Amino acid sequence: MKKIDVIIVGASAAGLMCAIEAAKRKRKVLVIDHANKAGKKILMSGGGRCNFTNYDVSAENYISHNPHFVKSALTRFTQWDFIAMVEAHKIPYHEREHGQLFCDNSSKDILNLLLNECKKNHVRIELNTTIKSIKHKSKENFIVHSEQYSYHCESLVIASGGLSIPKMGASPFGYKVAEQFGIKVWPTVAGLVPFTLHKHDKETYSDLSGIAINSIVSCHNINFRENILFTHRGLSGPAILQISSYWTAGETITINLLPDINLFDLLKQKRSKQPQLKLKTVLHQLLPKRLINTFIESEHLEKTLQEISFEQLEDISTQIQNWKIQPNGTEGYRTAEVTIGGVDCDALSSKTMESTEYPGLYFIGEVMDISGWLGGYNFQWSWASGWCAGQYV
Ligand SMILES: Cc1cc2nc3c(=O)[nH]c(=O)nc-3n(C[C@H](O)[C@H](O)[C@H](O)COP(=O)(O)OP(=O)(O)OC[C@H]3O[C@@H](n4cnc5c(N)ncnc54)[C@H](O)[C@@H]3O)c2cc1C
Repeated sequence: MKKIDVIIVGASAAGLMCAIEAAKRKRKVLVIDHANKAGKKILMSGGGRCNFTNYDVSAENYISHNPHFVKSALTRFTQWDFIAMVEAHKIPYHEREHGQLFCDNSSKDILNLLLNECKKNHVRIELNTTIKSIKHKSKENFIVHSEQYSYHCESLVIASGGLSIPKMGASPFGYKVAEQFGIKVWPTVAGLVPFTLHKHDKETYSDLSGIAINSIVSCHNINFRENILFTHRGLSGPAILQISSYWTAGETITINLLPDINLFDLLKQKRSKQPQLKLKTVLHQLLPKRLINTFIESEHLEKTLQEISFEQLEDISTQIQNWKIQPNGTEGYRTAEVTIGGVDCDALSSKTMESTEYPGLYFIGEVMDISGWLGGYNFQWSWASGWCAGQYV
């Protein structure tokens, strides 16, 4: 049986960051992954340009049953610390709206940063390796059996991520390990994911496929202002992905398609100043024709403003500024960017990510019950939690 100080399961954002930090402390580190390549999600992230962090990171950008848990790690390894690593590796990057930072060239730059640091610090990475069992022995701590070898290690770090994008290697491994050790796992659901629509709505809105509108999307008092995108399957775009993480099946979401004005006030004003103006002339200046023609009855659109009552104008405004739609569901883990739920943070130390019950057992990254907003927050959590665990494993 081979002896290793630290075994990390998952060679991606959280696992590689933890490996680098532990190896810098001269710990002998082995990273195991069942995929044929490290960091597949890093490579596909941010449309191939990896939105690796955000200028503005706080606990409010995360969803968890223990909302305070993230605070400690996020202040010990900040976005500025990761930006410093990116700059030290001379990776060109740029800011997009809402403080999001992306690589100028490719996500590969971020993965190479991590792999180069691993190499420099003598981290061993074993790919194509499936773990068959984990046993807890108080003396050696953990015995890990893979198909080829058996290892014993003092620290075992689970960085196996969530369930999104199974074809990229996602598996419930981490949740099973938690359950094996009696650690609670919160039910999981796909987050940052497009909505599908009920048949009737799908038919109504299918012609709008491809239209993007800057909107405010709300679901029980949580609001996001960004684009929504009509698709063949339903609704997508950043504002929809964000709200999907707060939505539960059966709920209705509210969308304001014209967030910068009060449409009813505008229509009333126009009605008094230009009563001969047709409703469609006003609305087609504000939103794409196809959208207006779908949302508002053609009978109204052809009327002049003076032919429409105040009550009807108010209804028309409500349809555009307070559009209520009940999604049928989401596209699920197949396209989701994150998994909501996971390993209960209450069972872990917020300083080290170590199990309070089983010293030497750590959970980091997305496998935990922590999900970030769209905008680089998920990677920042992986870097921060991986870095913190790396100081102690
Ligand atoms: C399409 C897409 C785009 C995204 N874009 C962004 C973005 O731009 N910015 C951002 O902040 N976040 C983004 N995310 C989210 C981000 O990728 C994840 O939150 C992050 O990768 C989580 O890191 P992790 O190391 O915890 O887990 P993962 O990156 O999921 O890595 C887990 C690793 O564990 C391995 N593994 C799983 N099961 C086993 C097992 N049984 N045995 C051995 N190994 C196993 C996997 O192969 C994988 O290598 C995106 C996600 C997706 C799906």
